[in-house]
Amino acid sequence: MPGILINKTYCKGCELCVRACPMQIIAMSKELNEKGYFCAILQEPTKCIGCRICAITCPDAAIEVHTHGTQFALFKY
Ligand code: SF4
Ligand code: SF4
Repeated sequence: MPGILINKTYCKGCELCVRACPMQIIAMSKELNEKGYFCAILQEPTKCIGCRICAITCPDAAIEVHTHGTQFALFKY
């Protein structure tokens, strides 16, 4: 099953991934991360189709997508 990992340390709460996800399954957390931002969270993991649009959209490379055993990380810090 496809899925994503959102690195809360890198997320700056811009909400671009929330708008980009075609399944509308990313939302913003009500808790602040260590930098003081409300970060993105995956709401309904079972609905993720592994399209990677969220990872491509994220300007801070905070999202990794895992699809069929393959890990897609667009950039490595
Ligand atoms: S991989 Fe696609 S469906 Fe899954 S959370 Fe990201 S944008 Fe949404
Ligand atoms: S696009 Fe990236 S930085 Fe912006 S809210 Fe989503 S995960 Fe955070």
